[in-house]
Amino acid sequence: MEPRKEKVSVTATPAVRWALAGGLAVWTALGFTPLSRPLPLPASAPDSEFSAERAMVTVRAIAQRPHPVGSADHDRVRDYVLGEFTRLGLTPTTQAGIGTFGRYSGKAENILARLPGTANTRPLMLAAHYDSTKRGPGAGDDAHAVAVLLETLRALRQSAPLRNDCIFLVTDGEEDGMLGAALFMREHRWHGEPGVVLNFEARGTGGAATMFETSTPNAWMIRALRRAVPAANATSFAYEVYRRMPNNTDLSVFKQGLAGMNFAFIEHPEWYHRPQDDPAHLDLRSVQEQGNYALALAREFGAQDLNQPHSGNAVYFPTLLTPLIVYSTAWVRLLAWLTLFVIAAAAQSGWVRSVRGFWFAFVLAIPVILQFVVASTAPGVSYLLEWPLVGVGIAFAVWMTAPPVIGFGWRLAVLLLAPAPSFLLIAPMLHSLIVALGPREGGIVVAVAALWLLITVSPQLKLVV
Ligand SMILES: [Zn+2]
Repeated sequence: MEPRKEKVSVTATPAVRWALAGGLAVWTALGFTPLSRPLPLPASAPDSEFSAERAMVTVRAIAQRPHPVGSADHDRVRDYVLGEFTRLGLTPTTQAGIGTFGRYSGKAENILARLPGTANTRPLMLAAHYDSTKRGPGAGDDAHAVAVLLETLRALRQSAPLRNDCIFLVTDGEEDGMLGAALFMREHRWHGEPGVVLNFEARGTGGAATMFETSTPNAWMIRALRRAVPAANATSFAYEVYRRMPNNTDLSVFKQGLAGMNFAFIEHPEWYHRPQDDPAHLDLRSVQEQGNYALALAREFGAQDLNQPHSGNAVYFPTLLTPLIVYSTAWVRLLAWLTLFVIAAAAQSGWVRSVRGFWFAFVLAIPVILQFVVASTAPGVSYLLEWPLVGVGIAFAVWMTAPPVIGFGWRLAVLLLAPAPSFLLIAPMLHSLIVALGPREGGIVVAVAALWLLITVSPQLKLVV
């Protein structure tokens, strides 16, 4: 019996080294390839579709100048939006009063319109705010979203009517402290009706539009999101991060009573609440993505029985190669035990066969323990530890245990595929983390993520170097 010889033969063959190095290069390239994004549809697109170019007409009309609460431009925008709802065949109303949210309080005047369904169960609601700050014309924040609502309404009216009613709520005073949303939730007679709210926001002027926040329980909404937009850009990681941040949007208010999801793009945060947040700097692809979410989800939720009770949260993330992956958080703990078992089994055989293998398992013990902490405190983040650990555990186990009779090619295939989850799950987040957190905090997180990438591909690196 010559187990050592067998192991050396894996490390020594130049063909294996080249194959592994090539495989790692391919995974790296795939991991850093951005998710594909839709092109903005032209104004000539079919009537039943969402066109970013058509929406831009509204953006240009609203975002001519700053239009904060109390300004003449604010009233001009309000009248323009009311006129657009009327032009699209609805009868809009306004709701004026004092909104109060936490330490904020002040005047707001919301705009509401309702598209009747054929057999309403509960309405769905699309929401965006029409006020801007004093410092910029607010093309991204949040004129684009008002345009998304109006273009979605236009497209809905050009296709088969929905089963459920659809409420369009254009709130006021968001920049002064979610005042319009608070006013709606406290006083409006429709406030308890919506079965789900979709809120559209921006914290910059471009980049991929993501679904970054939900109410709980969220599993049913995430599954609907995958049905409506299979390539949706949404991670339960973002949900866990945002949940812990002090930032507020109108959804913070709606969530106190209603189910909902929040959509935004966040690139060029340096232009957020600045004069550059104008139509010329707005990324049309971001508008198209927001519109695709709004229209597809209006049709999805518009067809559902929104009276159904729901329970359970989901872990969810996109990959380059599949539709949005969604599974219940109930699986998180089981997965943690599975990875523990795989790594422990590999470590046990590593102990028998090589001291190096034992030390490797010792290093992996840290993330293996950490995943149990994450599973109970932030299950939405767990996939970033668990799937790479499954991959590294399998690679490690094969490396340590495969007898020579198991084909050489088979072992190589496992070693090539094992780093896939590391690259496909971790690498795509690095860019958005820097944008979201800024270079300093983002840099720290990126360094940790890079270290984690390095640890999880170390079985492969060990055989290449
Ligand atoms: Zn905003």
